[in-house]
Parts: sequence; C-alpha cells; structure tokens
Amino acid sequence: MKRRLLRSLILIVIATIVAPLFVSLVSPQAYADAGFRKWKRDFAAYSQRKGIRKSTFNKAFRGIDKPDPEVLELARYQPEFRQKLWMYFDSRVNETSVERGQQEKKKWARWLNLIERQYGVSPNIILAIWSMESTYGEAMKRPRSLRSIVRSLSTLAYADRRRRKFARSQLISALKILQSGQIGVDQLRGSWAGAMGHTQFIPSSYLAFGQDIDKDGKKDIWNSIPDAMATAANLLKRNGWRPGRTWGYEVRVPKSVRSQAGKTRNLNSWAKLGIKRVAGRKFPPSNDRAVLMFPAGKSGPAFLMLRNFFVLKRYNNSNKYALAVGHLADQIGGAGELIHAIPRPYPKLPLAQRKELQRLLRAMGLYDKDIDGNIGSGTRAAIRRAQIQMGLNPTGFESPGFLARLRKRS
Ligand code: CA
Repeated sequence: MKRRLLRSLILIVIATIVAPLFVSLVSPQAYADAGFRKWKRDFAAYSQRKGIRKSTFNKAFRGIDKPDPEVLELARYQPEFRQKLWMYFDSRVNETSVERGQQEKKKWARWLNLIERQYGVSPNIILAIWSMESTYGEAMKRPRSLRSIVRSLSTLAYADRRRRKFARSQLISALKILQSGQIGVDQLRGSWAGAMGHTQFIPSSYLAFGQDIDKDGKKDIWNSIPDAMATAANLLKRNGWRPGRTWGYEVRVPKSVRSQAGKTRNLNSWAKLGIKRVAGRKFPPSNDRAVLMFPAGKSGPAFLMLRNFFVLKRYNNSNKYALAVGHLADQIGGAGELIHAIPRPYPKLPLAQRKELQRLLRAMGLYDKDIDGNIGSGTRAAIRRAQIQMGLNPTGFESPGFLARLRKRS
C-alpha cells in the first residue's frame, strides 16, 4: 500500500515538474500546446460537474488541441472602445445600411409585424440590430469571419486573463446548447468572442432568450432570420423595453443647462428648463425619465435618452452602439440625418466620391474589397498605405484633400 502511494507520488512529481521542463526544452509552442491540453483535461472534469456528458464534451472538443492566436489578437481590439463616434458611425450608419434596411423591412414585413405584436419592439429597431450585428446576415456568408465557438472560447478561457471567467461560463453554455440537440457541432460557429448567428448571441444569452418563432422545433438564430429577430426582440422585452416608445430625442440645450449632462429628470421638467427638440419638433407631454447626454462631447449633438436607450445597451454595453442602433432605426423609418452633425476632422464625402476613392485605391493595387462607398477598416488600411506611398501623414482619413491628390496622381 505504502509503496503504491510512493510510486504515485513519484509519478505526480514527474508529471507536474519534470515533464513540463522537458517539454519547455522542445519548443515554446509545444509547451503552450501542452499547457492547453492540460487546461482541456481540467475543463473536461469541470464540465462534467456542470452536467455536461462526456460524449458531448468529446464531440465538441474533437480536433481542438491548441489555442487560436488570432482570437487573442482580436480580443485586444474592440471598435466600440477604440473608434471615435464619427468613424464608428461612418461604417455602420450610412446610405447602404439605411437602404438595405428598408428593403429587408418589406421582405420580412410579416415576421416583423408578428414580432412587434408579440414582443412590443418595432421593426426598425430589429432591423437596425440585425444590420449592426451581422450586416443583415452578410457576415454569415463570409466563412473567414466564422470561427469555432468552442475553440475561441477555450482560447479565451485558457489564455485571456481578463475574460477567463466569462469564457469558461460561456463555454459551459455552448456545451449545453450542443447537448440540447438544437444544433450540431459544425454549426456552433461565430465571432472570436463567442457571439453567434444573425443577431450575434453569446451562448448564455441564447439559452436565456432564444426563440422559435417559425415553430420548426429549433431556436435557430443561425439559419432562421425570423428566429434570430425574435430572439433579439425577446432580449429587449425581457430587459424592460417599453413598447411604443422611442429610444431618445436629439435636442437643443440652453447654455445654462449644459452643465447638467448626465443628470436624469422627466421630459416635462427638462422642457421647463428650456431644452427643445431640434427642427421645431415637439416632445410628447410625458413624465418619462430621460438622461441628458453629449455622446461626442459638448461640441457634438445633444440627446435626451429614454429608458429604451439603456435597454439597447443590454445588447452591447456601449453608448456608441445604442446610439447607432437608435439613429439607424429612425433612418430606416424615414427620418433624416442628425440636425447637429457628429464632429469630424474633415467634411464627409458624398457617396459617389467615396466610391470613386475606393476605385482609385483599387487602381493603385491597394484595395481589393467592394466598391460600396462604405469606409470601414479595409478602406482605411488602404488609404493609410496610399498615404505612406505618397509621403503623407498616414491618418487613414478619406478627406476631400486626399481625394483631390489621388485624382491628380491617376
Ligand atoms: Ca425555428
């Protein structure tokens, strides 16, 4: 008995101290992979305590033996926090996203109306979320942007100190989805952060809010657009969405009241202080609580944000995100641009000129994506390369001056 104990102690010492030393002599990569495999064994045991069957675990983790370095790279960059408001808006709230939203509204009218009756969320808001989350499903057609959810979350759980706990619990939820038989493992794909389907739900939110509105027996946010839309509406409803109310109003603020940014009062009392809606529009008389906000700083547009603005932040906890959804929804519904434009370092180019710019960059061999006038990270990277070639400061900005120089060069 004692001898057996001693033997297993020696084995443990070899396994925990000597073996990793040996592995570290092989190569840092192999060492990292060995660390991952150890994490995987520990996680297997943990998942079984959480009710995951061994067969589910094995199915999910088949072929996953090392972390995904790209996931860690992507985890370092989040546009909601890095980009200025004007830049964030340019690539998300534009002619293309508004027009496509209006087309999709006709196409899905029957479902959108049913969703509004069941959940109290208007079609425009659902369409704006769909646009923001997956560009109306376009992102689902680019296999490169779809990763194994199990591998992405395992990578974060293993190697991202800040997201470790989050990723572990999401991974358990992902395994529960698989175990429920709603979808197969090859379908369990999505963003680096574990968001899945047309309306980008993380596994725990899918489990909490998933809907099967087309009644085929599956809550299928990957393949059923009605299910994905209903799931988004359900998240908003369950977080306190107020049916029939808007998200906020663009307002004009008297100088004396500007210092009250961030304060909450009801609409009537803001109106008494002299705050007015822009362009002569009127507030409905209301005791609804509203927060005064300047999302782009005091030189930018001002808003009174209502409860629904903060419900939108339950989808993605960012003021930029909630404002973009709200404003895009209004424009899909036929409203115009903001009256007080978001401050930007140069005037915005009209759509035709943004397309011209992309064509000129393509002719220089610097840009190979769509000529859609949508200035996103791909176009900005091409602009930066062109600016370096031309000996300019590489800002990545599509300013009128830069376009003029490109024209001269061609
Ligand atoms: Ca379904």
